[in-house]
Amino acid sequence: MSLDKIKKAIAEQQLRCPSCQGAILKYDKYIDTVDNIWDGAGDSKIEFSGCKVTLICGNGDCQWRERTDYWQEYLAG
Ligand SMILES: [Zn+2]
Repeated sequence: MSLDKIKKAIAEQQLRCPSCQGAILKYDKYIDTVDNIWDGAGDSKIEFSGCKVTLICGNGDCQWRERTDYWQEYLAG
């Protein structure tokens, strides 16, 4: 799960805030584990790694945010 996919999902408002049901509008990059692995020994487990991000709702006064590496769970539909 690359950062590009997260960016795209947020840009297209495909991620849903579980608190207010609005589209998640922001994220903070937390750790990009893919880069670390590529710099290492070329580990074949790269497919199971990815970005940990903090998802941030950003709607109105909703304070929901979640640090996760399973951001796909918030995909709408
Ligand atoms: Zn929200």
